[in-house]
Amino acid sequence: MSRCLPIYEYREEQIRSAELIHDAIRRRQGCLIEAGTGVGKTLAYLAPIAFAIAEGLVVVLSTYTINLQTQLIEKDIPILAEAIPEAPLRPFLLKGRSNYLCKLDLDHAAADLIHASDPQFSEILAWAQRTQTGDMAELPRTYPHWHDIAAKEETCRGKDCRYFNSCHYYAARRAALAANLIVVNHALLMTDAAQSAGILPHYDVLVIDEAHHLEDAATAALTLSIDSAEVPAFCDRLERSAVRPDVRLRSRGLRDLHHDLFERFDDGNYDFTLSDRLDHEGMDGLRLSGAVLQTELAAVANDLTDALPDEDDTARERREGLSQTAGLLADAFSGLLAEPSDGDVLWCSVASRPARKSNAAANDLQGLTLHRTPLAIARCVADLLWSRTPAVVMTSATLATSEGFSYLRQRLGFDGAAIEAVIGSPFDYPTQALLYIPNQISEPSRNPLPAYYDAIAEEMIRLIALTSGRAFLLFTSRKALSELYTRLRSRIPNPLFRQGDRPPQKLLQVYRESGNGVLLGNQTFWEGVDIQGDALSAVVIDRIPFAVPDSPITRARSEELTRAGGDPFRQLSNKSLGAWRVERVMVHSVLVAIVLVTALLWLNSLWGGQVLGRYSKVASQTYGFYIGMIFSGVVGVGFYPLLGTRVWCRFGCPMAAVLGLIQKYFSRFRITTNGGQCISCGNCSTYCEMGIDVRWYAQREQNVVRASCVGCGICAAVCPRGVLRLENGPTGGRT
Ligand code: SF4
Ligand code: SF4
Ligand code: SF4
Repeated sequence: MSRCLPIYEYREEQIRSAELIHDAIRRRQGCLIEAGTGVGKTLAYLAPIAFAIAEGLVVVLSTYTINLQTQLIEKDIPILAEAIPEAPLRPFLLKGRSNYLCKLDLDHAAADLIHASDPQFSEILAWAQRTQTGDMAELPRTYPHWHDIAAKEETCRGKDCRYFNSCHYYAARRAALAANLIVVNHALLMTDAAQSAGILPHYDVLVIDEAHHLEDAATAALTLSIDSAEVPAFCDRLERSAVRPDVRLRSRGLRDLHHDLFERFDDGNYDFTLSDRLDHEGMDGLRLSGAVLQTELAAVANDLTDALPDEDDTARERREGLSQTAGLLADAFSGLLAEPSDGDVLWCSVASRPARKSNAAANDLQGLTLHRTPLAIARCVADLLWSRTPAVVMTSATLATSEGFSYLRQRLGFDGAAIEAVIGSPFDYPTQALLYIPNQISEPSRNPLPAYYDAIAEEMIRLIALTSGRAFLLFTSRKALSELYTRLRSRIPNPLFRQGDRPPQKLLQVYRESGNGVLLGNQTFWEGVDIQGDALSAVVIDRIPFAVPDSPITRARSEELTRAGGDPFRQLSNKSLGAWRVERVMVHSVLVAIVLVTALLWLNSLWGGQVLGRYSKVASQTYGFYIGMIFSGVVGVGFYPLLGTRVWCRFGCPMAAVLGLIQKYFSRFRITTNGGQCISCGNCSTYCEMGIDVRWYAQREQNVVRASCVGCGICAAVCPRGVLRLENGPTGGRT
């Protein structure tokens, strides 16, 4: 390898990873490897892939980010081919359909006045003449109307298209069939599996890098979605077409029905679950609107099958394409709004209001997308993906939890035999890296947003000056990116590059060439980017990019996890520090009082009433009445509806106090945490019946060693990230 790669360094961790992967492929079994940053896992799996190909096997290599795919094809695989010449590598990067130019839609767009008058469209036409691949990544800058001319399932005519033999998308698929190392992204991998689309050839080995994203990619591929822009876009095309006038006029009715369906969701700014907005009647109303729209779309699709007498080839293609789109839209509404099956969540994603307004065409109902998402995808992934080959390699820098790979296996339904390993980073972080967390910027929730952006802009300017540019500024929202771009562009001398201005690979190229540039990016640049040496000296992030805990999918997954033990009283448990203090004082006071009073009564009885004398009878009756009736009866039972089913255990039961002390000092059971994975969803605290704020412990990576913890394990069961673990182990080493 060092012969072909001058900067190659021997890394023990890399060799170990490569050996494990090679071993797994040789034995045709799975391999799950968490390889820390700097292990060099790309070459660690590419070398075994090359040896597999040398044996005549076909390999599919899937990544999440387009950056990593490009790096593989342009840099890493050529090095590998040189280093292992006995492997006859025929690599091919196959992208999703919408990355390729559709020649037919380009013709249609060229005939439309809207596009013809756009100067950037002239550049597209010139590029379309030259391009061999039709891949939009070749474009020097992003074309805002790319969707209109991209290959799309809903408009593709397939074998009936006059360009079928020279179609860029189908040419790419044919090239993939002839390759023996096909690089794809997770979305395409799952689309191929979910639709039995036959996009990929038969393969013997599946390698999944950035595998921590596979669950989300699989969920997205299995989700049925309809954007509120789709029907209006179809109506636009219908109105501009040369079809029967009576059919063209039906677009007005379609627009009204569509407006009627979506307008009930047009008052929010955040994604939401439909059941949070609509009661039973509301859902029935929505289904009725969907059914009427679906019927009308199906009728239009049918009417569009009638040819006009003087129709030429172009008009026929457009009419048939419209009919196909109307039919697919009708099917989509029917599937999306059908009665929900168990484990599906119906939800709506909402674009920000400015984006919705600027995109609005005929009305303000843009930017809303209805989704039907299956929550339990494990079985589907097992049937669709793992059934294809036992030789599956999954790797990433963050894959395992405190319980090893069991969480990943469970979420993805992967139960095959597999070699498992967690391999740490070879980097010496304390000497090679510096982490800086400014503490003078108050949280955005405590600051007006413009002031917050001003404050982080000042901090970024300082950092950029210190590193002479050579920095990535990464944001979790487009709004933050654009606000900071506006503030920085007149304040720093370095070249500034912004995601969206050019395709990602072009952006990286100009960044590298600049030598002292600053790149502002969103999700695309958070991972899978390879910039070597000093060219990237600082990475500044505005927030930790956690999944939003109250997003409809995260919430629905959490609720699904907790459904089995769904006791509404649990959620009433007070988790505050004050409640904990009261609880400790009360339960231990009760224990002390009961031990003392019981000992007194017992001694009194033993010595024939000499201790309490004539008060003996009154004392034992009073004790029985207060403890038996008032305390355990009224507090223990009567307060259940107000304070939850465990109110007695928490505040009154002396036995609970004894068990708690045993739990704290002697029990083998305890909840351990791996806080690095915690997304602060709060499920654990919500569902802990003993009122323990488990999240507090998880965030600090501390084990739960509380007298009140009864070791029930519910917190571990409801944690969506596998952070918590109910351990049965020796008591040594507790804090
Ligand atoms: S085959 Fe489909 S994607 Fe290709 S040019 Fe024709 S319509 Fe477009
Ligand atoms: S094991 Fe049970 S009692 Fe202990 S923290 Fe978890 S949920 Fe609470
Ligand atoms: S430990 Fe788990 S359940 Fe608790 S807050 Fe963190 S992710 Fe949520």
